Amino acid sequence: TPPELIRNFCIIAHIDHGKSTLADRMLQITGVVEERAMRAQYLDRMDIERERGITIKSQAVRMPWADDSQTYCLNMIDTPGHVDFTYEVSRSLAACEGAILLVDAAQGIEAQTLANLYLAMENDLTIIPVLNKIDLPAAQPDKYAAELAGLIGCDPSDVLKVSGKTGEGVQELLDQIVLQLPAPVGDPDKPARAMIFDSVYDTYRGVVTYVRVVDGQLNPREKIAMMSTKATHELLEIGVISPEPKPAKGLGVGEVGYLITGVKDVRQSRVGDTVTNAAKPADDPLGGYRDPKPMVFSGLYPIDGSDYPILRDALDKLKLNDAALVYEPETSAALGFGFRVGFLGMLHLEIVRERLEREFDLDLISTLPNVVYEVELDDGTLRTVTNPSEFPEGKIAAITEPVVRATLLAPSEFVGAIMELCQSRRGLLRGMDYLSEDRVELRYTLPLAEIVFDFFDALKSRTRGYASLDYEPDGEQTADLVKVDILLQGDKVDAFSSIVHKDKAYAYGTLMATKLKDLIPRQQFEVPIQAAIGARVIARENIRAIRKDVLAKCYGGDISRKRKLLEKQKEGKKRMKMVGSVEVPQEAFIAALSQD
Ligand code: GDP
Ligand code: MG
Repeated sequence: TPPELIRNFCIIAHIDHGKSTLADRMLQITGVVEERAMRAQYLDRMDIERERGITIKSQAVRMPWADDSQTYCLNMIDTPGHVDFTYEVSRSLAACEGAILLVDAAQGIEAQTLANLYLAMENDLTIIPVLNKIDLPAAQPDKYAAELAGLIGCDPSDVLKVSGKTGEGVQELLDQIVLQLPAPVGDPDKPARAMIFDSVYDTYRGVVTYVRVVDGQLNPREKIAMMSTKATHELLEIGVISPEPKPAKGLGVGEVGYLITGVKDVRQSRVGDTVTNAAKPADDPLGGYRDPKPMVFSGLYPIDGSDYPILRDALDKLKLNDAALVYEPETSAALGFGFRVGFLGMLHLEIVRERLEREFDLDLISTLPNVVYEVELDDGTLRTVTNPSEFPEGKIAAITEPVVRATLLAPSEFVGAIMELCQSRRGLLRGMDYLSEDRVELRYTLPLAEIVFDFFDALKSRTRGYASLDYEPDGEQTADLVKVDILLQGDKVDAFSSIVHKDKAYAYGTLMATKLKDLIPRQQFEVPIQAAIGARVIARENIRAIRKDVLAKCYGGDISRKRKLLEKQKEGKKRMKMVGSVEVPQEAFIAALSQD
């Protein structure tokens, strides 16, 4: 297809504003998916995506659309809809010339709408503002058209109004995509450069890589090279998705499609990387490539220690289709053999854990997640800490923690509550705008550690569910952080050590000490539980001693009954972990680590 006839676009929307439904309707109206084969959320392929109603992996579909004289080729690139995947979103946007900014006509603009709009603007995309769900009785198209128009600086009459559900206005939207979005530009005579915006592992075909060609041409059977690693591969197949993969003779300037090289590991085909011809490579890669960077680390342990080899194999397999997953073996006195695993964020953590449990039939326990810290020692050496147990003892010159730029949106009555919450999470107000007289956008810089775990729930409960939040990484800052250890009778329980802000150390120590006091059964002797920073104890509880003599219970009983009881006690002991001389049932660790 000549570039003049190509339009590459994505749909950006807050969750539930109807992106998948609109995409379905477009597939249907352009005839790509037959009425009969249509099922809701055609593009959301992974099970977990369907169940949770979120899109994790982006896909690209090609659709024909004709005006009076010509047939155009529209490539719709679906973007992941979660903060954990901001980098993938930015690469999907970079593969497009335009974006449909989709807003629910009964809800108005939300935080994710704004965050994605900012990303689209950074990538110089042409924006088409669209209100969706105009069929809803609660829709307020005029009010929100004004809001949208104010936001992007257009006339309210330029805001399109559609219903992804009934299909109303969708044909007009397709026409406007052709009219308003620029055609891709590139040089067909230059060496090939194509940007990878997604790569997924397929059991049968190996890695399927999604690309957008910028310059030159990619042809089947040629050798290609990945510019970040210089690795070369033969192009076994190249094609377009419409809506199933269809091999093509090649992909030229502006085209979007997939390629298959037979590699089995997505790390060989990284999102953001540039593909070029091996024989005639381009001089420079396209900009914007970044290695995936895990933001959150947690220990993963099998509840049944004998499952360790299964967990190891499972992680090795998952790694093949998840370039962001990193892990290394770790041992914990409390939990046994396991792995330290790095994730993009909490959703990524949950997805990985769910897949491990579901696809590999594992029961797992994860330790308290933490972000990544840079610790500078007194002698100037730098240490990256992904695990509290690596936190250096002794003198520390400085510690830095990751921060995010957060966008919060809410009805104006909640501004006070949101500010209070952000303040308590060490937030710094960066700006505040009224989108309309009753809706406010707040921009904050916040430590990632304060926002990634439970902030969203706290925000929802303080704003009765009306506030929305989105954020993206925004560098590092120094902070006054300490490691709090939990000790049982003077012995550290590694799984409970945590790096926290100095002002929050006491709260964390007290919480863990009281939790453990209730969870650990009384022993033959008194057991002190302490929370400490270095040698300084900041909180303390006691488990009082009992005299435990099971045989005393069957005083005078027959001997076989006594033996049975002793057997039973031995069984029970197997699931006990020794911390120093204290016996702790594994369930106590699990309960103490689970969030409540
Ligand atoms: P996404 O999260 O942006 O992909 O949103 P979905 O497409 O999954 O839609 C979220 C919910 O809104 C679903 O229950 C849809 O059925 C509903 N929905 C989507 N579009 C429309 C629409 O135009 N009208 C109405 N009434 N409901 C819609
Ligand atoms: Mg969706």
